[in-house]
Amino acid sequence: MENMAEALSAGGIHGEESECKICYNYFDLERHSPKLLSCSHTFCLECLETLHFREGRGWRIVCPVCRHRTPLPERRVRNLPDNTALTEELSHKKREPEDSLNGIPGQSP
Ligand SMILES: [Zn+2]
Ligand SMILES: [Zn+2]
Repeated sequence: MENMAEALSAGGIHGEESECKICYNYFDLERHSPKLLSCSHTFCLECLETLHFREGRGWRIVCPVCRHRTPLPERRVRNLPDNTALTEELSHKKREPEDSLNGIPGQSP
């Protein structure tokens, strides 16, 4: 019963950067893909698009943490670079279901 927290964290990507600090969703490769700002803070695509919309779709976006302004290529949040450290981990996770590590009965030579 007391291992609840452990069980919850076991499935996640290690580190604090695996979730968006605005919506607290885990990053994925779709709506919540991790976008890297030039201040090196990372937020999900969806939150940054909402933020950008609220700010009137300008040429830059203001980081909600440190207020640093990051210019958007062609004024599009999508054009920001991904946080590749996270996207690579996510794509590895997708390719390798957890079961395949322990569930193989015996590999043929
Ligand atoms: Zn978010
Ligand atoms: Zn920042």
